[in-house]
Amino acid sequence: MNQHLRRTPTHLADGRELVYFDDSPEYVSGERTRRLDDPRPLPDRFAPVPGPDGVERPYAGPEMRLDPLTGDWVPMAAHRMNRTFLPAADSCPLCPARPGAAYSDGEVPDTDYDVVVFENRFPSLQRVPGVPDERVLDAPLQVHGPAAGRCEVVVFSSDHHSSFGALPPQRVRTIVDAWADRTAALGATPGVEQVFCFENRGQEIGVTLHHPHGQIYGYPYVTPRTRAMLTQARAHHERTGRNLLRDVLDSELADGRRVVLETEHWVAYVPYAARWPVEVHLAPRRDVPDLPALTDAERDDLAETYLELLRRLDHFFEDADGDRSPCRTSRRGTRPPRTRAARSRTAARTTSRSRACTCRSSRCCARRGSSSTSPGPSPAWARGSATPLPSASPRASRSSHPPAPRAAG
Ligand SMILES: [Zn+2]
Repeated sequence: MNQHLRRTPTHLADGRELVYFDDSPEYVSGERTRRLDDPRPLPDRFAPVPGPDGVERPYAGPEMRLDPLTGDWVPMAAHRMNRTFLPAADSCPLCPARPGAAYSDGEVPDTDYDVVVFENRFPSLQRVPGVPDERVLDAPLQVHGPAAGRCEVVVFSSDHHSSFGALPPQRVRTIVDAWADRTAALGATPGVEQVFCFENRGQEIGVTLHHPHGQIYGYPYVTPRTRAMLTQARAHHERTGRNLLRDVLDSELADGRRVVLETEHWVAYVPYAARWPVEVHLAPRRDVPDLPALTDAERDDLAETYLELLRRLDHFFEDADGDRSPCRTSRRGTRPPRTRAARSRTAARTTSRSRACTCRSSRCCARRGSSSTSPGPSPAWARGSATPLPSASPRASRSSHPPAPRAAG
């Protein structure tokens, strides 16, 4: 792990785990320490809950049901309907604590932080102590079981109005270490079959908190898209003796037309059979099984490369007020979605926008001349997007590359 990082674990008032990942020198050195106690009067998260008849019943947690038509497991988490939905900035549960403020239900005990990870208060996957991990046949073709996984929230910044693309490389490097740390921890959790780090970007895809954050899911099953990719990889290996992802990357590099950027350790390319109007895959040049297997040099490079990629993608978006600046790091807060026609107009002029951009931001692509290799936008492009984080080769079932879940944190 990064030598310039301090990891500080603690527990919230209801028993959930929280980990601070700090890169600020005074915390790395131990000169300062984080607040560990959570003063909120929260009940234990596994405490009995009253039923409709007022009688308390043991907490059961979310369940998952088997879709008989596809064979896919589908998590059911009715309690998530009560989760926090688009709160105002002064009542954001991801902001640092503000002693004396009217809002006092924030999730982070300290008044500041660099990066923090904690268990989701409203998880769609959760292992409940004492609940057996068994499948139950309710009726023919109706099977359910506990959704015994884990959902964590990764808060990228203590600044409510910031965004991932606005973070400095050092902070992104800390986030990479946090992803790797949690991937290893959740991957070692009994019952977890797959770990996926992701960020949902945009209200249109279901984001319910504007504070810059991502999520990490520890699934108790292999997700459908990963299952399909593993089937393809096995078939390719049986047919050729080769690694499918390696061959795909080599093929894209040989072709070159869809390669967005190359660095010492990473390659970003638009896949030949892209499924989304804008889709870019970021792959390591070296075959690795997962994020924890990345070297320090690969992680350093990933931080820089992923930032560059996100900033290029942000160039496809437009402010609600018609500002053509591609830099979405202002402190204006929530922007309502554009109309489809407006988005189409935006898309049509996006390729020339970077050259004509007059914004004064140092992050503007026109000033870095970085737009020439960006993939062309589709007229159907919408602002909301799911941004799967870079994945490694799925040599084992614990891959980190399923489709981005639509559930938001
Ligand atoms: Zn916030």
